[in-house]
Parts: sequence; structure tokens; C-alpha cells
Amino acid sequence: MELQFTELLNIPGLVVEYYRNLGQELILDVEAETDYSNCPRCGQVSNHLHQNHGHLVRDLPLSNRQVFLRVNRRQFKCKKCGKPFSEDLDFVGKGKKYTHRYATNIVEKLVHSDLTNVAKNNHLTEREVEAMINHVAQQIFPINLSGLKRLGIDEISLVKGQGKFIVVLVDLDTGKLVGLVKEKKQKAIESVLLSWGREVLEQIEEVSMDLAKIYKSIAEKLCPNAVITVDRFHVSKLLHEELNQGRIEQKKTAESLKAESREKVLGNLKGCKYILLKRSENLNEKQKNQLIKLKEASPKIAIMYNLKEEFTEIFDKSNNLGEGTINLLDWLEKAAPFFQKTVKTIKNWFGEVVGYFERKTTQGVVEGINNKLKLIKRSGFGFRNFDNFQKRSLLVWHLTNN
Ligand SMILES: [Zn+2]
Repeated sequence: MELQFTELLNIPGLVVEYYRNLGQELILDVEAETDYSNCPRCGQVSNHLHQNHGHLVRDLPLSNRQVFLRVNRRQFKCKKCGKPFSEDLDFVGKGKKYTHRYATNIVEKLVHSDLTNVAKNNHLTEREVEAMINHVAQQIFPINLSGLKRLGIDEISLVKGQGKFIVVLVDLDTGKLVGLVKEKKQKAIESVLLSWGREVLEQIEEVSMDLAKIYKSIAEKLCPNAVITVDRFHVSKLLHEELNQGRIEQKKTAESLKAESREKVLGNLKGCKYILLKRSENLNEKQKNQLIKLKEASPKIAIMYNLKEEFTEIFDKSNNLGEGTINLLDWLEKAAPFFQKTVKTIKNWFGEVVGYFERKTTQGVVEGINNKLKLIKRSGFGFRNFDNFQKRSLLVWHLTNN
């Protein structure tokens, strides 16, 4: 029976010696399967048992029953030093009342719930849960960034309407959050990046960003080997804004028309913001008809819409840097009279924008990360204290393989 429990327990190197069934609780007496340990002072292997030290630790539940392990942490006496030492057990920290995996499991629950509920549902106090968060954080931090090659920088506002942004740093290859910065200020961002160490910063090959000068100057300064690219969807966003602005202006112009044509033109320009912003291939029949009327109502909007579609196509279909660059230059010339702001911005960021055609990097994963951050914040995951929020958010992505 103990053998089956050893298998069920599934902690490598650990043997169940005895079990007791107390109804809602199972108590398993466990011990390391080796009969020796290494002295932490001199490294000498010792099998000279000095004392047994039993203590209870909480582990993951089995079939809905609480499980406690009665761990025997043995003391050996080192022949070389002549001093006793207690063995290291890699599944439970010294002096801890729970296994590492139990703490990890509790912290994982915090992703979908809040502290109060997680504590209540697991018969723990909030303070115990907080201690587990810190315990797990200690195991994971600092996060291993040795594989970071493509860094994405973006920002989100977690408190609506305050215009305050936090900066989100993402490993674009793993899709994991790797850092948060409390405010969109150069010094604050630089200090987080510098805390990663020069070695990490030097190995970064690409930094992808939106159209923010502050990010560009930070990347140029701190990531000496990185190519800077602008995320294409941030450029599209600018284009969309200008297209919508064009529609609003056309509406205003239409209002000064004579009565009978005014109603018709206005009718065709109203309520079609999203039709204009959608890709033509995603429009349904009704929307396609609306688009035709819209284009009839305003030839200028018709041109702008076609330019927007062409822009998307250039980014979807250009196969390499040369092709993309030529197509974009061509587009800029045609678009200049209609999209003054966007054209000017692209010219200012030309190298970073065309970098897309070579590397095809997008910040697609960042949107999902931002949504998850909002969830974490909403679950009362300690946003009042930014350091806690950052710690807990990073845990969400680095606990296991989420
Ligand atoms: Zn020793």
C-alpha cells in the first residue's frame, strides 16, 4: 500500500513509509529514499544518522482530501567537520509548513480569483497566502532572461481616465511578460532594463515598439546590438484614426450642402466608422453595400479607404525588405495628400517601419498579455502596491509553463 502511495505522491526521491486515513485528511509519513546526504559545509557524503526530525507539511490534495506529509528531515553527523547538519529536501523549504508545489498551486489559483477567496477556499489565512506568494517568488526571481532575443515594449492604462500608463516588457518569442515599469518615464524604464544586466541587454537582437520616441532612445542607448522595429499595427492604428478623422470632416462639409443632397450624403456617411476600418474581405453583403454608398457620397473617403486597404496589403504580401520598401515608398507618395499625419510619421520612422519586412515581428502577443494584466488588476491582486502587482503578475507567466 505504501508503495502505491509513493507512486501517487509522485515526488522524486521520496518514499511513503506509512499512511493514516483520518477521513477528510490523509497523513503520509515520508522520507528521502537515500540513506545519506551531503554536508553543506564541506560537501562530504555522510550516512551517519544523528537524529530524526519529523514535522508536518501541507501538500496537494488527493481525491479532495487534505494531505499532510509527516516529513522526516534527518540530521547527519559529518565525519570530516565533526558537526551535525540537517539534510536539504528539495520539495520543501526549511521551516516551511507546505511543499513548494502546494504553494505554487495556491499562487496559481490567484490568477483566476482573489486573495480573500483563495484563502477561504483553501482553509488558509490571507497572511499565509501572501507568505506563499513571497515564497514562490523567491524561487523564481530574478527571472531567467538568458534566452531573451526579441523584446517588445508597450504600455497600458490600468486606471481608466487617469492618463497614467504602465510600461509592459515582453519576450516576443515566448510570449511571456518579463517586466513592468510603474510609469512611462525614461529613467524608470532604464532602471528596470539595467537591472537585467549588461549581458542580457547585449544579447537582445530586436526591440519592437510603438511610435514613441522615448522607447527608441532607450533602446538605442541600452541595447547596443538590437535592431529597432515599429509594430505594424501601431502604424495601422494611426492610419485608421486619420481615416476616421477624414470621415468626420466630410460629414461637417456635407452639413453645409443644400437640403436634399445633404440628407443623402449625411445618411451615407453616418454610422460607418467600423465599416471603414474593417478589411474589405471581412465585410458582409450589407456592409459592402454601405461601403459602396459611402464611396459615392465622398470620393475623398473612397480614395482614403482604398489607400488604407493597399497599405494593409503591402504589409501582408511583401516578401522581403527590398520589395516592401519600394511598395511603401510608392504608397507614401500617393498617400501624402490624404494622410498627412501618417505619412509624416512613417517618414520619421522609416527604417524602423520597413524593418518589419525583414523580420516580420509583431506585438500580437502583447494584446493578450495586457488583457490578462487587466484581469489580475481587477481580481484585487494587490494593485495598490505596484511592487506587489509586478511581482504577482510576473509569477503568473513564470510559475509553470503558462
Ligand atoms: Zn562537513
